[in-house]
Amino acid sequence: MKCKIIIVIVLSCCLHTNAQQKQGDPALTEIWSPVPKVITPGKTIITDAPSDAIILFAGMKDSVNWINKDGKPFNWIAKDSGLTVVPYSGDLKTKQNFGDCQLHIEWRTPSEVKGDGQGRGNSGVFLMSRYELQVLDSYNNITYSNGQAGSIYKQHMPMVNVCRKPGEWQAYDIIFTAPQFYADSSLKSAARMTVFQNGVLIQNNVELWGAMQFIGVPKYEKHAAKEPLLLQDHHNPVSFRNIWIREL
Ligand code: MG
Repeated sequence: MKCKIIIVIVLSCCLHTNAQQKQGDPALTEIWSPVPKVITPGKTIITDAPSDAIILFAGMKDSVNWINKDGKPFNWIAKDSGLTVVPYSGDLKTKQNFGDCQLHIEWRTPSEVKGDGQGRGNSGVFLMSRYELQVLDSYNNITYSNGQAGSIYKQHMPMVNVCRKPGEWQAYDIIFTAPQFYADSSLKSAARMTVFQNGVLIQNNVELWGAMQFIGVPKYEKHAAKEPLLLQDHHNPVSFRNIWIREL
């Protein structure tokens, strides 16, 4: 009887450990130190798209450029003033695919502050649907540095924290170089990203380690030379506006 109980305990411990291993610990890839220095951005955002840009969202009518990632009906709120996440409706992606690009996108976290850490104004700009530039309310909001606004999520922390207050529009200007793959699917060259937030350099031609991974180490998996741009529904009503892109 005693032996049976011991076996049951050992077995349940093994199963528990296996389940933990499968699931993994997301905290293992969080970096909390150093904390990027807080600076105040200049007052204006340069909003106008140049003549050769593809307009992805400048008003309600441009919702035709977007579809739900999972094939569900488009369910975000599209107004001339912006595109807003409807929590739990799913990610949005562009109908058109992109590779190397220059992308301008403005975003705003809710003025009513709810939650903290990663639960406060979380969204994301996913280049090629898999390389995430984090969107978060990082104004007086403590979280891991490689998960705050302007981070390449769980890879590179921003050089400074140049966030505006919740409820204020902010801009990302991104220069993205797509990764390249050999015919055997191995990596030929990594993706790279340069990012300006509110006009300030926060990522300087950093090399990406792979697709965004919440748990575990990022890695590359071969994909098409062009993929949709994706905006994340992370269950917070974050808004976007004035989204334009130039293919390079
Ligand atoms: Mg996110």
